[in-house]
Amino acid sequence: MGFTIEAFDNAVHRLRQNGITFPNIEDIVNKIAQFEKEGIEAAPTDVYKENKRLKGMLICRICKINNSNALFLPCAHHVMCFNCAHDVRKCPLCQRDVNDIVRTFMG
Ligand SMILES: [Zn+2]
Ligand SMILES: [Zn+2]
Repeated sequence: MGFTIEAFDNAVHRLRQNGITFPNIEDIVNKIAQFEKEGIEAAPTDVYKENKRLKGMLICRICKINNSNALFLPCAHHVMCFNCAHDVRKCPLCQRDVNDIVRTFMG
């Protein structure tokens, strides 16, 4: 399973606006499906800010070689490549347990 990080991020953001602080994968998938159904642009409108933010997210913080493409659930942090994230049990940013890791790609 894979999503663009933009769509994923936006879905998490919307769910949090709806009071769901740590959405599960089904909530997020449903939200992305809803965006597509309603024809809502999944990427945020503030392109400059978004590009800047995405650039900071791009390189894995552990190996600093691969692009980061592993999104932790339920906290939705995105700081590592899939190789480095493989054995991670706790998110290094927020110390939450990692229940699921979703592979992302730049769309
Ligand atoms: Zn890495
Ligand atoms: Zn986290």
